[in-house]
Amino acid sequence: MSNIHISSHPLIVHKMTRLRDKDTDPKKFRELLREIAALLFYEATLDLTTTPCQVETPLATTMGAEIKDKIGLVPILRAGLGMVEGIWGLIPSAEVWHIGLYRDKKTLQPVQYYNKLPVEPTVSVCLILDPMLATGGSAVATVDILKKWGVKKIKFLGIIGAPEGIAALQTNHPEVPIHLAAIDERLNEHAYILPGLGDAGDRQFGTG
Ligand code: URA
Repeated sequence: MSNIHISSHPLIVHKMTRLRDKDTDPKKFRELLREIAALLFYEATLDLTTTPCQVETPLATTMGAEIKDKIGLVPILRAGLGMVEGIWGLIPSAEVWHIGLYRDKKTLQPVQYYNKLPVEPTVSVCLILDPMLATGGSAVATVDILKKWGVKKIKFLGIIGAPEGIAALQTNHPEVPIHLAAIDERLNEHAYILPGLGDAGDRQFGTG
């Protein structure tokens, strides 16, 4: 599968094991999610553009560089929220634009319920944040929204992907790179990822 990046970093593999564990409480779950998201972001942003700049050290003037791209973080509500903080700590200049989607019970299609994007795009690179790439419906719809907004470069950052969700995103938006910590076996009859980690929203917010 092209355009898909699965991290095999030992730190991520270790933290993923703790994240999946049913006995991990919400506080620890949020901490692990924050850390894994930051590690994935680090790997996913190797291609950011920089511009050279001067910097004064206490002893001399030397050349450095600063990030040129304007980054937008786009968490899909609500589970994506837990991926924001760790990434934002690494890139505090990023803008955060929330997108809310739910699945219509009859049509099974994602319906947008929250979107405050301004008319013109304010960022050059958007990273969609959603821990679980399950059916792929929300991810595909969010890329549609961001493309319509006019963003040129879009990446998807998730924690676990199901083959079904990955296929849906790759079919609809083949140019969007997918960064994950793991690919799992399949979806169950309720569209939960197996073996997965359960409901990523409930496990963060203690609502399960
Ligand atoms: N959303 C979740 O939170 N978990 C899954 O397994 C699938 C979708």
